[in-house]
Amino acid sequence: MSFNESQWQKSLAAAITSPDELAERFGTEPEPLRAVANRYPLRITPHYLSLIRIPGDPIWRQCVPDPVELEDDQSEDPLCEESLSPVPGLIHRYPDRVVWLVANECAVYCRFCMRKRRVGCGRTDATSRDAALNYLAGTPAIRDIILSGGDPLLLPDEELADLLGRLRAIPHVEIIRIGTRVPVTLPERITPALCQVLKRFHPLYINTHFNHPAEINPESAAACARLADAGIQLGNQTVLLRGVNDDPGVMRSLMTGLLKIRIRPYYIHQMDLVRGTGHFRTTVDCGIEIMASLRGHLSGLATPYYVIDLPGGKGKVPVLPEYVRRQNGKLLLRSYLGEVVEYSDPAIVE
Ligand SMILES: *Cc1c(COP(=O)(O)O)cnc(C)c1O
Ligand code: SF4
Repeated sequence: MSFNESQWQKSLAAAITSPDELAERFGTEPEPLRAVANRYPLRITPHYLSLIRIPGDPIWRQCVPDPVELEDDQSEDPLCEESLSPVPGLIHRYPDRVVWLVANECAVYCRFCMRKRRVGCGRTDATSRDAALNYLAGTPAIRDIILSGGDPLLLPDEELADLLGRLRAIPHVEIIRIGTRVPVTLPERITPALCQVLKRFHPLYINTHFNHPAEINPESAAACARLADAGIQLGNQTVLLRGVNDDPGVMRSLMTGLLKIRIRPYYIHQMDLVRGTGHFRTTVDCGIEIMASLRGHLSGLATPYYVIDLPGGKGKVPVLPEYVRRQNGKLLLRSYLGEVVEYSDPAIVE
């Protein structure tokens, strides 16, 4: 891979953004795609496009507009992120940590995005950035800042360095996290120069966003190796998606594949109830079945938490298969193979 600093910008400029170009490439009808792309933007990088093997496959489903996106009338913001933002773009839901939406752009616009209401719509301006920094500096309870968006790693190196420097100048900011999908969608963005910038701001954690084993390939693996070699701990957030990864075998191969490229699976997210994404939603039982197929069958390192983000912005809740039951003063524990074992718990009085 070439490390010409402008290579990633060239790749981004070569991304498909027009429904007609996409339709021509795959010999499908452009008309149904146009209305969707007008409402929710379309962008597919050359790398991500190269992962599509046939129309309708798991990569295609994640990035190609589908007319059913327009037929779903759920809330745009079920997690009430806007009303939980003391200043625009800064979501303060938990006492000690915040999500800061520092970018609105992404290399690929995922059709299932929980921030469909805002990604791809204009840039964040300098005044709202100053307001956010003032809020952070004036709120000592905040120790953990999660940069999100959009994709923070689409910001130019200098802008990112400036922003990280201003965060690190706030004494109570202990941890900085970045949520990014570019290792998957635009791996050439992870340049040695970017890694040099990022490693100046430790402790810095990155959560990537892999959803399917086909997204693990030599390019994305090399991008993750460059980040890991810069001393950055890599986690991964996967969204449970119908027709993409709602299958124990697929999820097992994704989780073990991530560990091999030095990423520790962190969360599997139940799809939020966001407008335009209903066709991706699975049942919660599907997620529970997947979790039961991971825990104990695979390395504990390959087993993330399955979480539901509660409507109304009430926080993430881990959801587990039923391992613990109490019955007639007994504690009954279910093994990963389904055997129920009685366990004596000193706290239980007979
Ligand atoms: C998910 C999330 C966080 C981070 O939660 P962790 O469980 O610490 O990863 C923080 N703030 C908001 C608004 C979130 O949605
Ligand atoms: S990369 Fe993340 S923020 Fe961007 S469209 Fe995909 S899910 Fe949404």
